[in-house]
Amino acid sequence: MSTTETQQEEAVLRGTPASRGAAVGPVVRVPEPLGEPAAGPAIPAERREAEAARIAPAAAEVGARLMALGSKPGLDPDVANVLFATSMMAEDPALLDAAGAHVRDHGTPPARAVYEAAAGFVAALQAAGGYMAERAGDVVDVRDRIVAELLGVPAPGVPPLSGPSVLVARDLAPADTATLEPATALALVTEEGGPTSHTAILARSLGVPAVVGCRGAASLAEGALVRVDGAAGTVETVAAGTAVGVDLAAAGPTVVTGPVTTADGHRVAVVANIADAKDAARAAEVGAEGVGLLRTELTFLSAATEPSPDDQRAGYAATMAPLHGRPVTARTLDAGADKPVPFLAMAPEPNPALGVRGQRVFDQGVADRDGVLDRQLAALVAGAAEAGVRLKVMAPMIATAAEARRFVTRARAAGADEVGVMIEVPAAVLGARELLAEVDFVSVGTNDLTQYLFAADRQSGALAGLNDPWQPALLRLLDQLGREAAVTATPVGVCGEAAADPDLAVVLVGLGVTSLSASPAALPAVAARIAALDLDTCRRAASAALAAPDAEGARATAREVAAAG
Ligand code: PEP
Ligand code: MG
Repeated sequence: MSTTETQQEEAVLRGTPASRGAAVGPVVRVPEPLGEPAAGPAIPAERREAEAARIAPAAAEVGARLMALGSKPGLDPDVANVLFATSMMAEDPALLDAAGAHVRDHGTPPARAVYEAAAGFVAALQAAGGYMAERAGDVVDVRDRIVAELLGVPAPGVPPLSGPSVLVARDLAPADTATLEPATALALVTEEGGPTSHTAILARSLGVPAVVGCRGAASLAEGALVRVDGAAGTVETVAAGTAVGVDLAAAGPTVVTGPVTTADGHRVAVVANIADAKDAARAAEVGAEGVGLLRTELTFLSAATEPSPDDQRAGYAATMAPLHGRPVTARTLDAGADKPVPFLAMAPEPNPALGVRGQRVFDQGVADRDGVLDRQLAALVAGAAEAGVRLKVMAPMIATAAEARRFVTRARAAGADEVGVMIEVPAAVLGARELLAEVDFVSVGTNDLTQYLFAADRQSGALAGLNDPWQPALLRLLDQLGREAAVTATPVGVCGEAAADPDLAVVLVGLGVTSLSASPAALPAVAARIAALDLDTCRRAASAALAAPDAEGARATAREVAAAG
């Protein structure tokens, strides 16, 4: 290889594609979190009380600022919930008491005392693993904000943006990203994080390109002009003078036109993943044929007690209203692991992702919980009737045919006509013959299915390579499901992040998937790609990907087959 080629290769950084589209802009680096505050000099005994008393007001100021960020009109509700949770964390009496004790008992300077008190919480959360370990990052964010407040230095996080910029960070905390606007934050690049990290989810909801897990991003200099391609997962330095802005050609089509079929007329439903009325309006705007996944946790995540049946019905009706006349598939409450539902007061478990979560919370017959699911099902049926949508319901995290049967019985009893289950556990695929006999449809949650197939936490940046839906082992599992479903003519949807990738959508159709559900912003590109190819090409792309030795090989060979048509 010539020197020039090597240099060119080095100029392109590669990471995990997290949100499609491309943009060119100058790098704005998000400062690293604050370092350790000084441990001394010790505060003299007579000033300790006064110094300790500075901590609570500083924490209250931080809490209030986070709360104000979370209350910003139009903010993504998922992000708002995270901000409310972190604002409460900032004023957690246990944290503040522990910090105050460090000052009073040892004369530790207040900033250092907060730092040390937080370390105990971080260690406990990390030891708990799973979802709790993810929250450790939030405690660190809150800690640094209180420390900055006490030291009188600017809060860590995204600096004010004076113009269109490409944000480059080690990782972004929810509080960093809440205020971003697509007009100035043209693209996001992080060194850490996987395709399901906060950054990735936020970027998709803003519709800005993002590359996460981008090794070498630390080498990008402030002000350097770069092009970020969120579909290819690349970041490259471009010549000075290159026009700054969103690459509209790379962004592709903006609407789904008509009922989608392959070029030779094979029908594939292109539907949306939504969580609230704002998403639903966006889905209608881009021409989604309906909804393939309504995540219903939102109403429950911030509720201290179970929302009343009437509130639930009204909430679902409002969420579904923009989809009037279209089919909406609602997933019943998926509690546990990465989706904590405080009012269920679930017992702590050593491995929450492998514990009593999803439909298991209700299937195990804890008496006072049974009513929760039945009331939710009834509210969904009533809300859908009010909104004038065709309702389908499905349960998360089903592993066996017996679990599926019990759910279907209860959903039908609540008045649901079309009832299915999510395929998120490998056992459900291996037991598909029996399971498919119980349901009207299935929908594959590739995010969880990949996590469980590879025993790799979906939130781990370090394991993003295993959580890649192009992994041939995952595709082979889907192939098996597609074959079983063809025998019973059961519709098979995919509603995990995999369906948002047009190249992978081609493969999924080739494997027998009949509907693709992804965030509204991703749908037009997926629909356009399916419409451009015939079914035989999709099948050949699928066969090629199945035979590949690894995820990169599968991606490359499937693209080649599709490009050749
Ligand atoms: C999935 O697991 O792929 C899925 C769609 O559900 P969630 O991401 O909400 O767990
Ligand atoms: Mg899931």
